[in-house]
Amino acid sequence: MSTSSTNELKFRDSVDLMFNRAASFMDISPKLIEKIRVCNATYTVRFGVKLRGEVHTFTGYRAVHSEHKEPVKGGIRYSLDVNQDEVEALAALMTYKTALVEVPYGGSKGGLCIDPKAWDEEELERITRRFTFELARRDLIHPSLNVPAPDMGTGEREMAWMMDEYRRLNNTNIDNIACVTGKPVHLGGIEGRVEATGRGVQYALQEFFRHNDDKKKASLRGELDGKKIVIQGLGNVGYHAAKFLSEEDGAKIITVIERFGVVRNPKGVNIEKLKQHMLSGEPLADFQGGTVTNPDPTAICDACDILIPAAMEAAINMDNAHSIKAKVIVEAANGPVTAKADKILRDKGVFIIPDMYANAGGVTVSYFEWVKNIGHIRFGRLQRRNQEAKNRELIEALETQGGLKFTKSFKSGFIEGANEIDLVRAGLDDTMRGAYGNIKAALIAKPELEDMRTAAFYVAISDIALHYRSIGL
Ligand code: NAD
Repeated sequence: MSTSSTNELKFRDSVDLMFNRAASFMDISPKLIEKIRVCNATYTVRFGVKLRGEVHTFTGYRAVHSEHKEPVKGGIRYSLDVNQDEVEALAALMTYKTALVEVPYGGSKGGLCIDPKAWDEEELERITRRFTFELARRDLIHPSLNVPAPDMGTGEREMAWMMDEYRRLNNTNIDNIACVTGKPVHLGGIEGRVEATGRGVQYALQEFFRHNDDKKKASLRGELDGKKIVIQGLGNVGYHAAKFLSEEDGAKIITVIERFGVVRNPKGVNIEKLKQHMLSGEPLADFQGGTVTNPDPTAICDACDILIPAAMEAAINMDNAHSIKAKVIVEAANGPVTAKADKILRDKGVFIIPDMYANAGGVTVSYFEWVKNIGHIRFGRLQRRNQEAKNRELIEALETQGGLKFTKSFKSGFIEGANEIDLVRAGLDDTMRGAYGNIKAALIAKPELEDMRTAAFYVAISDIALHYRSIGL
């Protein structure tokens, strides 16, 4: 965490404060509100793995915030900063996020206190397999009870190891590969999962730009094209968001803030070139596509239209909130704005698209992957050629009977049936548009909610409360 002010709340308390603000506008008994807010259980495991000739003890967590729907869902993070407060806060956000985007899960989150860069691949695999074993024997990884996914410091590789370990332990369960999402496609993953969270950030911003009243609140005009963006973190989420927004929507990424330095280019940083440079292992200072400086805590305050924190919690806090110049903040990371900074920014009129909504693309496509796994069939496999045949018939009829003539490229584009990636992107876009609409509807029905975060919490809490009431709680 980058926050230095001792007056900041802990992450968990920060999430609770935002939750309580929304709950204060609701006509729900305080006892039920408390039931929804509390984290049901957190399991702490310490296990030893013999590596480099000696036993190393690792500490991991899996928090289950709410089991009102099962399986519970949430990523597993590898970082030295992982702690119980953090996983519980992140698990709570998962409960509200899944409720908001109508994904039928409860909320969970896990973490392993480890610096993944300190271990080689073989060692990491052994550690991950042992962690999986510890979780599996308590059903904290299970296709119908608890389904992890990637988060900071983990990706497809770790999910593949977890899936394989779980499968070895449960080889008679026909749905065993649905025990984790975010797997490589050739091991039962889904097209579009790696890009999903960044893609969802893009769709969230596209939807924001369709709402003139929101643009007005943020003092912005026009389209995404040409808008100046500052992004923090060029990892999985930040890279995909920045790539799609610049390459497909014409936005200009003027500042990229990374762990080892800052890259600025007023004409727009070429994100693909920068990412390839970072992956090559060359020093950031040698990147030719912009001005590179050492890590600079003030870069997040660079003048821009849109700021996308996509690295970590508490990046925007009491120390820098007053100096933020962005008109819109899109919370691609989880908890990047502390509760106190949130108040400062709201008072300044900054429009915040909250994490619960903005980064929900990952869990949405994870849901599609899980459905694919338990359905044991790739999306589009049955329909694609049938759809293609119908489209071809339509074009032929319009040409032969309607006297129309279409270009070859239009015809091939129109006729082609939807494959898995098309369906995943369409499903994600629909989800992001629908959730934005539900947040707006809450704001119209109850203007006193005032901001998108409070309204998003309101929608989520209402959904969970309805669930509990309907089962007699
Ligand atoms: P990642 O590990 O792939 O990337 C994080 C990036 O941030 C890295 O490039 C890292 O170098 C950079 N970074 C770390 N500390 C930094 C600092 N002090 N200043 C600038 N850059 C810094 O992680 P990710 O999966 O992209 O996750 C990022 C955030 O998005 C996290 O908050 C995570 O919880 C959230 N998130 C991720 C997903 C997902 O599908 N991966 C889904 C929802 C939310």
